[in-house]
Amino acid sequence: MGADNRVATNQPPPLVDHNTVLSDLALVEAVARHADGSVVEDLAALGTVASSAEAREHGLVANQNPPALAPFDRYGNRIDEVRFHPSWHWLMERGVGYGLQAAPWLSEAPHAHVRRAAGFFAWSQTEPGHGCPISMTYAAIPALRVDDAIAKEWTPKLAAPSYDPGLRPLAEKTGALAGMGMTEKQGGSDVRANVTEARPTSVDGEYTLHGHKWFTSAPMNDVFLVLARTAGSVTCFLVPRVLADGTRNPIDVVRLKDKLGNRSNASSELELNGTWAQRLGDEGRGVRTIIEMVAATRLDCVIGSASLMRRAVAEASWHVAHRSAFGGPLGDKPLMQNVIADLAVESEAATALAMRLASAVDNANDPHEAALRRIALPLAKFWVCKRTPMMVAEALECLGGNGYVEESGMPLLFRESPLNSIWEGSGNVNALDVLRALGREPEALNAWLVEVGRARGEDPRLDRAIESVLESLSDVSEMEVRARRLTGTMAACLQGALLVQHAPPEVADAFCATRLGNEYGGTLGTLPKGTDLVPIVERTTPRV
Ligand SMILES: Cc1cc2nc3c(=O)[nH]c(=O)nc-3n(C[C@H](O)[C@H](O)[C@H](O)COP(=O)(O)OP(=O)(O)OC[C@H]3O[C@@H](n4cnc5c(N)ncnc54)[C@H](O)[C@@H]3O)c2cc1C
Repeated sequence: MGADNRVATNQPPPLVDHNTVLSDLALVEAVARHADGSVVEDLAALGTVASSAEAREHGLVANQNPPALAPFDRYGNRIDEVRFHPSWHWLMERGVGYGLQAAPWLSEAPHAHVRRAAGFFAWSQTEPGHGCPISMTYAAIPALRVDDAIAKEWTPKLAAPSYDPGLRPLAEKTGALAGMGMTEKQGGSDVRANVTEARPTSVDGEYTLHGHKWFTSAPMNDVFLVLARTAGSVTCFLVPRVLADGTRNPIDVVRLKDKLGNRSNASSELELNGTWAQRLGDEGRGVRTIIEMVAATRLDCVIGSASLMRRAVAEASWHVAHRSAFGGPLGDKPLMQNVIADLAVESEAATALAMRLASAVDNANDPHEAALRRIALPLAKFWVCKRTPMMVAEALECLGGNGYVEESGMPLLFRESPLNSIWEGSGNVNALDVLRALGREPEALNAWLVEVGRARGEDPRLDRAIESVLESLSDVSEMEVRARRLTGTMAACLQGALLVQHAPPEVADAFCATRLGNEYGGTLGTLPKGTDLVPIVERTTPRV
């Protein structure tokens, strides 16, 4: 009898119902380390929904149906709205409902930021694009705090776990979302080159903006932090989409970007012509003010990339556990075990560092934590985000041809994977920021030394890497040329120190051998012989 073509064999079942929180041991352990078990319990329901077949479907559909710009209504009035697919709203309603936006800033809980980081990490595995407005809303609060009255007006709605879409005045909304407008055509990294002009009105603190923004994501959000030039140079402004009297602030959405990935999310080009704005912070202190928002979004870039890695290795390890070739499960083949274990090590290192950084936000009043955050954020943003595309590509290949097909969800992850490294300071910009921190803030290097010092003597490869950083810093010539190498090593030392202290020994050993020692084989799946692969693979493979 021939094969029954109507029934597929040897195709793994979809990875659903594994609970993206509870099935992730590296995450659970990190949360227990930086918070406590009650936070894990609290997030279990989120993990159940995030791993459901329904969430998986909404994630794919929201990306297959990107948002559309509606510049005018049927009569020709300018409305500048963006229409999203219902699956986007489904994802947003839950992400906001779980308090992944600005909720931790108003929380009394001691580990509110770790809880939120773990939740964001686990929830973003449904679909990464809608994380953008959620992140920007989280990140806006530290910048708003420069002005008590503005912070008091906006924070309660930005922190409310209520998704209330649509352009209406703040007073009529149960929850609000924030965005940012820094990048202009002539420059994104160099925001001091901004040309958008702010003209004072007759009311103190109020201005009109005249110019453009080249990338403003989530233009349907309720409020934006925008940079513009006053007489005193670059200044930060608060720009609501709708004014208190219910009229729309003139913000022309000219075009939505046709992006490589992040397709569920809208990223727009704006023209500002008489746009009403309130000054946030002093004139000429715009970069200083908005840097608070940038720093918080950089944390989310790290968490978001770590989340992509986790979803990628979960899919890859699941697939090889259920697919056979050459007489047995792929997951039993030594070379595939090497690939999965290497992916797992990368993912685990990213998770550990992301959660460590979130814990520094919970303890921001501790000088060590504040100094560590100053240097570890650009270190992690550079390193974790930059390693994501190659890691996701390798995970995709574990699914063979199926991984190259949209329905697998892997192309979505792959297209998203370079974004976090570009956004909020591209790789070089973060490496240069590390140099700035090292040059200007001696407490930043001290904090790094204290942190990696906690694992000193535990692994000779880690010890040597720390020494190599100190040697590199003692030579001040051509620092900019060497910035990436230095940043990468310092970040890997932080990861190595965390893994040596807290991860299973085989994970820490594999990491130190290949990321800090001399055993890197030029690509993933090259862990040296003698590495204890099977427990690493078992630990990373989701259980349903
Ligand atoms: C999907 C998406 C959404 C976005 N959303 C927003 C948003 O909501 N709001 C917003 O304001 N912006 C947004 N951006 C813009 C983003 O933040 C910028 O693209 C980014 O900051 C880089 O700026 P740029 O594109 O002007 O590149 P440039 O500044 O021109 O940089 C180009 C390259 O040069 C490198 N470089 C820059 N300076 C140096 C230097 N001194 N030495 C060495 N190398 C250097 C950079 O690392 C980069 O690789 C978004 C971008 C994307 C892709």
